[in-house]
Amino acid sequence: MAGSKFAYVKSFEIPDLLLPKTFIVARLDGHGFHRFSDEHGFVKPNDERALRLMDHAATVVMQEFSDIMLGFGESDEFSFLFRKSCTLYNRRSTKIISTLTSLFTSAYVMNWSRYFEDMPLKYPPSFDGRIVLYPSSTEVMDYFSWRQTDTHINNLYNTTFWALVQQGEKTPTQAHETLRGTVSSQKNEILFNNFEINYNEIDSRFRKGSVLVREVVPPSLSAEGKSSEADIAGSVSAKTLKPSKKPKPVYKITVCHCDIIGKSFWEEHPYLLE
Ligand code: ATP
Ligand code: ATP
Ligand code: MG
Ligand code: MG
Ligand code: MG
Ligand code: MG
Ligand code: MG
Repeated sequence: MAGSKFAYVKSFEIPDLLLPKTFIVARLDGHGFHRFSDEHGFVKPNDERALRLMDHAATVVMQEFSDIMLGFGESDEFSFLFRKSCTLYNRRSTKIISTLTSLFTSAYVMNWSRYFEDMPLKYPPSFDGRIVLYPSSTEVMDYFSWRQTDTHINNLYNTTFWALVQQGEKTPTQAHETLRGTVSSQKNEILFNNFEINYNEIDSRFRKGSVLVREVVPPSLSAEGKSSEADIAGSVSAKTLKPSKKPKPVYKITVCHCDIIGKSFWEEHPYLLE
C-alpha cells in the first residue's frame, strides 16, 4: 500500500486534531430548509412531524457516538456536546464532523416516511456541520442557553407572524411590518388580544426545543433488565474479570423540552459537564 511512487500525495493532508481535554460542540443545520420545508408542506410555524424526525435522527447519532452527552435541537438544527475526555478518531476534526453529519442525514432520510407518511421525499436533504471547542463548563452552559434563547425568540416571532397571516388575514409583508421593532411583551399582547393565544400555553416542544440527555440508568434497574445489553456485558465480565471491577455505567437517551438556561438543569445533571 505505502510503497507506490504516488504515495507522497498523502503528505499533503494536513492534520486537524482538536485540542485535548476541551469540550467539543458540533452543530448541524439543514441546508436550504426554508425551501425544503415549503416543498414538503411543513405546517407553519411549527411542523411537529419534522421536529420529531430531527429528534429521531439525533437519537440515532447519540446511540452511535457514546461520547455525546447532550443534544439540543430546534427548527432544522441540532447541537451535540461531547465529553471533554473524548478520544474519538484521535480527535480528528473533519473525521468527527463529517461522520456525524452524514449519519444524521442518513438517519433523517431513512426515517422520513415514519413521520411524513403521505409526503414522499422530493429531493435529498443535506445538512452542514461545524465544530467549536469550549474551554470550560461556563461557555458550554452559555452556548446551550444561547441556542435555547434563539428558539424562544424565533418561536415567539414566528407564532405571532403566522397568527397574523393565517388568522388575521394579513399579507406576509403586512405581518412583518406589524412586528417590526416590537419587543416580546408586545408580541405576547398581539397574540392574546387578537387571537386569544396565551404564549406560555403553547407546546413546550415549540417554545423550548428538544433536549436529548444521556441519562445514567441506576445500577439496580440496569441489572434487572434481562434483555438489556448491559446485562449481557455484565454476565460476561462477571466470569472474566475480577469481582472488584466496577461495572460500566449504563445510559439511555431521553428526550425532554425543559429549560436549560437556568442553573437547575445543570445541577441535576452534573455528569454532563465532567
Ligand atoms: P441555510 O442553508 O443557510 O441554513 P435555511 O433555509 O435552512 O438556510 P435556516 O435559517 O436554517 O434557513 O432556517 C430554517 C428554516 O426551515 C426555518 O426558517 C423554517 O422556515 C424552516 N423549518 C425548519 N424546521 C421547521 C419546522 N419544524 N416547521 C416549520 N418550518 C421549519
Ligand atoms: P474506516 O471507517 O476507517 O474508513 P473501513 O472499514 O471503512 O474503515 P476502509 O479502509 O475505508 O475501511 O475500507 C473499506 C472496506 O469496505 C474495504 O476494505 C472492503 O472490505 C469494503 N468494501 C467497500 N466497498 C466495497 C465493494 N464495492 N465491494 C466489496 N467490499 C467493499
Ligand atoms: Mg476506504
Ligand atoms: Mg443558517
Ligand atoms: Mg438551515
Ligand atoms: Mg437553521
Ligand atoms: Mg471507510
